[in-house]
Amino acid sequence: MNNKIPTRIYLTEDEMPKFWYNLRADMKNKPDPILHPGTLKPVTADDLAPVFCRGVIEQELDDTTRLIPIPDDIQDFYRAYRPSAVIRAYYLERMLDTPAEIYYKFEGTNTSGSHKLNSAGPQGYYAKKEGLTSLTTETGAGQWGTAMAMSCGFYGLDLIVYMVKVSSEQKPYRKALMEAYGAKVVASPSNTTESGKKILADDPNTGGSLGCAISEAIETAVKTDKCRYVLGSVLNHVLLHQSIIGQETKIALDKYGVKPDIIIGCAGGGSNLGGLIAPFMGEKLSGNSNTRFIAVEPASCPSFTRGRFAYDFGDTAKTTPLIKMMTLGNGFIPSANHAGGLRYHGMNSVLSKLYKDGYLEARSEVQTDVFSAAIQFMKVEGILPAPESSHAIKAAIDEALECKKKGEKKVILFGLSGTGFFDMTAYQAYNNKTMSDQIPGDADLQRGFASIPDIPMNK
Ligand SMILES: *Cc1c(COP(=O)(O)O)cnc(C)c1O
Repeated sequence: MNNKIPTRIYLTEDEMPKFWYNLRADMKNKPDPILHPGTLKPVTADDLAPVFCRGVIEQELDDTTRLIPIPDDIQDFYRAYRPSAVIRAYYLERMLDTPAEIYYKFEGTNTSGSHKLNSAGPQGYYAKKEGLTSLTTETGAGQWGTAMAMSCGFYGLDLIVYMVKVSSEQKPYRKALMEAYGAKVVASPSNTTESGKKILADDPNTGGSLGCAISEAIETAVKTDKCRYVLGSVLNHVLLHQSIIGQETKIALDKYGVKPDIIIGCAGGGSNLGGLIAPFMGEKLSGNSNTRFIAVEPASCPSFTRGRFAYDFGDTAKTTPLIKMMTLGNGFIPSANHAGGLRYHGMNSVLSKLYKDGYLEARSEVQTDVFSAAIQFMKVEGILPAPESSHAIKAAIDEALECKKKGEKKVILFGLSGTGFFDMTAYQAYNNKTMSDQIPGDADLQRGFASIPDIPMNK
């Protein structure tokens, strides 16, 4: 090992970013506007006001302000668990015997276990500041619900989390953790909402889905006084908050004295990837870098690599505004045996646009390969990675081996978005060899595409 270069670099409190970076401001070709599903006209702040907090609506619709100040309160919130380290993966490099340098940014040290707290904090803050008293949200695997439970515990807000029923049964400790922070967790579909009752009437034994949990959360938010709905990925304001990751990384890499040749991140709705790459992509768009950017998604939910670029709903009940994005269709449901997370049908609109315009590459991986990469990584680097994050590890290993083949000394950076402590059932399935790979066939994809709305913009 080369001991002249440190293994990990943290920033001092003074060096912590004071602004969020809005990548859209530096895009010449902006993402297409979000549309109102009834009028098919761009949504206004007033359209969104019954559902979302004012503070985030303003950020969602802002395509032009480059730097948005992080409120002092949020800077304090961040300081309770940030900065997160950028780690040089010496042991992984040695194990792979590669000339490449590998770095990763680890977001899993806070109690929620992932980067999601970076947006949960601000979303709780704006709700409190606007005089709201409660929030609703949905959670699948449970990371977002936990992050929001922490934020609402901190800001003294009530929170109802509609948790996909199968997950709440598979992950009882996630539920217990949210409840410990004061959240009310309702298995979805439930008989507490009209949309839940309707879904249950159609199929009393359903295990639920993210789309149906979203419908229940929105319904309750709209019906309850001083209550709004919060979302943990996909939307632009979430990517904005996550730009804290990329900005910290950039400062740390400057301290290491390196510039990344390749940046890799896993992609579900796109928030950790979008946050990590933001400042680096800004440089690329202005012609000042040749960095390659790679999104990694599961082969069982391949919205970038096999999806369509179209206006689609964010939820299965077709209640949200329409977003132009890479999508498998709001009706697409990945195979039930898929344990690797990243199950959302669509992708953030900024990342979708960058992908279509050729600035962002994407690839998909099957889950057994992803877990195999996770095990290789944890044995040498020590950290137990989240299955989601392990998609990025798989691609980083492949790129490092490519460097070995070609004798190239590239600098590879990847986002390690979270810890796998609540995913031991999935690790067990991998180790027992009961995990299998299910890749959707063309007919499965066609069924999903059929749910994409038939509107003039999609012709
Ligand atoms: C939620 C989650 C993801 C996927 O969401 P993105 O919005 O695509 O970042 C990835 N990794 C972890 C650990 C998560 O909890």
